[in-house]
Amino acid sequence: MSGVHRPVPRPSPETVPFWEACQQERFLLPRCSQCGSFWFPPTAFCPECWSPNWDWHEATGLGSLHSFVIFRRQYHPAFVTPYAVGVVHLKEGPNILGRILTNDFEKLHVEMPLTLMWDRAEEWVIPAFQSF
Ligand SMILES: [Zn+2]
Repeated sequence: MSGVHRPVPRPSPETVPFWEACQQERFLLPRCSQCGSFWFPPTAFCPECWSPNWDWHEATGLGSLHSFVIFRRQYHPAFVTPYAVGVVHLKEGPNILGRILTNDFEKLHVEMPLTLMWDRAEEWVIPAFQSF
């Protein structure tokens, strides 16, 4: 499929550190220094208490499948069907959208435990999830 490029992230100023860490296969989440909340996507202020004081913390990469869709129709030439995309509820609290990698789509179900793995697209390393 020459000439077909997979869509890749377009970091905002708030998400640049997240994506830079991903390129080193490190999964970071913002955590509030005041109330301890984790959140995603990264923003300048804690969405719980509006504190501007927070740091990046290495996340476990563990979570569970909150919802998902299995694409059986090809909407982009770079995505070979079938493939699954899901909302993953991370152990730390926030939800993140990502590809759910599996060889058996019939086994996907809500609340199934998932773990982070790294998906590669073009020059990017992107978080994705798989069952374990
Ligand atoms: Zn807070």
